[in-house]
Amino acid sequence: MDKYRVRFAPSPTGELHVGNARTALFNWMFARHHGGSFILRIEDTDESRSDITYQKNLLNDLDWLGLDWDEGPGKDGSCGPYKQSERLEIYKKHLQKLIDADLVYPCYCTEEELEEERQTLILSKRMPRYMGKCRNLTAKERKKLEEDGRNPSYRFKVQPQVIEFKDLIRGIMKFEGETIGDFIIVRSNGMPAYNFAVVIDDHLMDITHVIRGEDHLSNTALQIMLYRAFGFAPPTFAHHSLILGKDRTKLSKRHGSVSVGEFRKKGILPEALINYLGLLGSSFTDSREVLSRKEMISGFTLERASKSGAIFDEEKLHWLNAIYIRNCNTKELAERLTPFLDQAGYKTDTIDPKWLNEIIDLVKTDLITLAEIGNHIDIFFDDKYKLTAEAKKLLERDSSGKVIKVFSEYLETATGNPKDIYSAAIKYIKERTGVKGKELFMPIRAAITGKVHGPELDKVFMILGRECTLKRLSFAT
Ligand code: GLU
Repeated sequence: MDKYRVRFAPSPTGELHVGNARTALFNWMFARHHGGSFILRIEDTDESRSDITYQKNLLNDLDWLGLDWDEGPGKDGSCGPYKQSERLEIYKKHLQKLIDADLVYPCYCTEEELEEERQTLILSKRMPRYMGKCRNLTAKERKKLEEDGRNPSYRFKVQPQVIEFKDLIRGIMKFEGETIGDFIIVRSNGMPAYNFAVVIDDHLMDITHVIRGEDHLSNTALQIMLYRAFGFAPPTFAHHSLILGKDRTKLSKRHGSVSVGEFRKKGILPEALINYLGLLGSSFTDSREVLSRKEMISGFTLERASKSGAIFDEEKLHWLNAIYIRNCNTKELAERLTPFLDQAGYKTDTIDPKWLNEIIDLVKTDLITLAEIGNHIDIFFDDKYKLTAEAKKLLERDSSGKVIKVFSEYLETATGNPKDIYSAAIKYIKERTGVKGKELFMPIRAAITGKVHGPELDKVFMILGRECTLKRLSFAT
């Protein structure tokens, strides 16, 4: 095997967090950069917390982000199944191997007993860990506990040893075995614990590089012990920094939106989110900030990924989003905007698509998110047209009244194409009223759009047309 193989191994216990999406992105870019394989594995052995809806949303979100996997759910490969809940037999066999080698033992301690031990250790200022109460039980003692109805979990016998590994991002990492208590590999309900299942799966799936968040660093020490116990060669590890909020604590709900689904609902484009997540912690050789997928893949190096936490800056994400919206082809943008328009009460199936495209083409330079489209295009719809207080005030001025009156007069009899009508009208108003500049354009804008800010007036006029403009002028005075 000479091909790089990486995996993203989410637990479907919640919506996909942008931090996890970034882990997926790093793995995906690494695989694509090296022509390797990107594997998706669902880690759903925690039955009480895993949920099929989360799993569906997760696959949807990855799909939306364009992080396609080579093997995983819906994409068979030679290392399946790719859902841990379908691999229980495999874990059972591996547990037996460790039992046979006397490297594990059954533990009968209850939650309460474990908690009590924890508290005692904390009170005596010692590191809380399992002190091995069940490690040396005799066969008779075990039998008695089982007769009492206790189901054992299985713990791995941690030997006093130093665990050392070279992390691709962090360099040499060292952990003292003595600070680690015998840890659970199979729970009392028979389900494998994370550290156990992950080692077996990464090994059987031929994973060459494990790229994940630094919150898993201490797990890696436990996993290396298991690799040694099984006689498996460990993969190369790379632990990237986490995404932080502005207060430098781990990005969580209290900082605002954190899930990919939330950003999607807010009208962030997947390419903007991907670009932004890739930039966080600067993992590119390229110093530019707006990068296509192709450029991200070619410029990605794990070694450059920053060791220190990356602060999530939603404003920067918005900045990128606006760029991607602006650069998006109008026809495609119109399609992407449809659900947002429908949501904002615009019945898109009743609107002339050509006319709508003209509007979108005009307002797209002002859009930051897709969700705000309604506030930009309302000026073109009669049923949404209304004068804001600012517009009203502006129209009360004497010079405004004059401008609107002359503009109406001109339009009454004007013929020709809207572009020519508009420029001729402006010229005419200037000549007849002597008003120019802001004093001329502001009342026109206020009267025909109902607002004091908005897109280029001549284009607005061209979209509205002569008759609609006339109607609005009469309404505004
Ligand atoms: N299921 C684990 C998680 O979501 C995977 C961690 C790993 O990549 O090993 O945190």
